[in-house]
Amino acid sequence: MCLARFVVQAILGNRSCMPDSNPPYDVLVVGGGNAALCAALTARGAGASVLVLESASKDFRGGNSRHTRDIRYMHRAATEYVTGAYQDDEFWQDLFGVTGGATNERLARLTIRESETLGDWMPAQGVRWQKPLRGTLHLTRSNLFMLGGGKAMMNAYYETAARLGVHVQYETEVRELEFRDGEFVSAVAGSNREARTLAAKTIVVASGGFEANIPWLKEYWGEAAENFVIRGTPYNQGRMLKQLLQHGAKPVGDPRGCHAVALDARAPKFDGGIVTRLDSVPFGIVVNKEVKRFYDEGEDFWPKRYAIWGKLIAEQPDQIAYSIIDAKALPHFMPSVFAPVEAGSIAELAAALKIDPHALVALVDKFNHSVRPGKFDPGSLDECSTAGIDPPKSHWARLIDTPPYYGYPLRPGITFTYLGVTVNERAQVLMQNDQAAKNVFAAGEVMAGNILGRGYLAGFGLTIGSVFGKIAGREAARCAGF
Ligand SMILES: Cc1cc2nc3c(=O)[nH]c(=O)nc-3n(C[C@H](O)[C@H](O)[C@H](O)COP(=O)(O)OP(=O)(O)OC[C@H]3O[C@@H](n4cnc5c(N)ncnc54)[C@H](O)[C@@H]3O)c2cc1C
Repeated sequence: MCLARFVVQAILGNRSCMPDSNPPYDVLVVGGGNAALCAALTARGAGASVLVLESASKDFRGGNSRHTRDIRYMHRAATEYVTGAYQDDEFWQDLFGVTGGATNERLARLTIRESETLGDWMPAQGVRWQKPLRGTLHLTRSNLFMLGGGKAMMNAYYETAARLGVHVQYETEVRELEFRDGEFVSAVAGSNREARTLAAKTIVVASGGFEANIPWLKEYWGEAAENFVIRGTPYNQGRMLKQLLQHGAKPVGDPRGCHAVALDARAPKFDGGIVTRLDSVPFGIVVNKEVKRFYDEGEDFWPKRYAIWGKLIAEQPDQIAYSIIDAKALPHFMPSVFAPVEAGSIAELAAALKIDPHALVALVDKFNHSVRPGKFDPGSLDECSTAGIDPPKSHWARLIDTPPYYGYPLRPGITFTYLGVTVNERAQVLMQNDQAAKNVFAAGEVMAGNILGRGYLAGFGLTIGSVFGKIAGREAARCAGF
């Protein structure tokens, strides 16, 4: 039975002392995105009383998860919603490939294995699948697409949670955690003016990364971080991550590590979501403001490469780049929400983009001379490549010669950061001495760095958050006596 006391007390001078009429809680979940709700639903399903604390208002609940579209999962055969099998070995090889082995194999294999349950578990919580549409980045076999995207998924989770009796408090940022003898005791939540201390038997931290905290990003990226665009929620400030690290949690992941894509430079600073991403890169060339190419635009299939382009652009002068394509390329990618800059000639395009026209004409000319003949096929690693230029373009290299010409200004778009806390197979947070904090669990972006040391696989952020959210919920409930 639940022995937890939900204690509300005044803690500092101007913080209010408001007795709370709520019942005691077994599990406190910090965060209101996918990982948090997977944990909350599972813990509640096991019989525990659960309180979810979400920084955002009800309208903006759901963190980065509300921007998602699809989830990668292991499955043994085609279904109505995926075109073929995606078995654990292939999944593992794909993950190994993108991370270059920078992954905790035990946790990675656990994630892959457990992902098999999601195809049924998510619909049981109200999520509906849809058949993949065009422009879904070669994911029709490996990934399931949510009908209505992440927003509908989160709404379904919140509805089910309400039905099951999970309590949710919005506009409630958790600011501090209190530990005693290596165990979680209570959390301080609320605003500067009014904060409350909430004690619960266990805690699941599912509060995302620190990607929206520009001063923190600047510690690792310097002034360049001022030019980063944050694709998701402004609420992922990394406050809980910092608290856990201050309490002695063992960090994992490169502090500079992040999932970062090429984003339309005209995107809003925060929360632009999916529609500002640019997938035009493999179908043209990309130059920096000095009109130099800096990476092989056709190195591999876009889903395996798109997540490195944000970092590549972050390393360019003033963190800006330009995708240059011609009319032939336009039908081959999903457009950004912003119309491309259009011109009748390369020189005019350069002028419109405010880069050196002579340099761009010369570069496109040199590129065109390097293009080898071949059969263009966006669906395969085709034979259209360049010879004699550096960097090369390995696939989908075609002459840029058909007006009108188009350009998109690009910025690094940070999706989420990889620095996190180390966890074990029970989603318990490990401390510096490698001992698990008994009643502290983590799920989602805040621990994704255990599995994603580098690179990214499309749809895998949700996989990690769902699998570890479920594990954290189950284990937190068990720790609370269920
Ligand atoms: C535009 C975009 C598209 C994406 N598309 C996909 C996709 O299709 N498939 C995929 O797998 N992944 C995708 N991702 C990545 C995916 O969103 C994340 O990997 C995943 O949603 C992380 O889930 P989470 O629950 O850990 O974090 P989030 O969903 O970000 O949730 C974190 C929550 O914590 C809350 N919070 C933060 N700090 C506090 C605090 N101190 N107190 C209380 N609450 C707090 C936030 O308000 C938020 O609700 C995408 C990301 C973006 C930005």
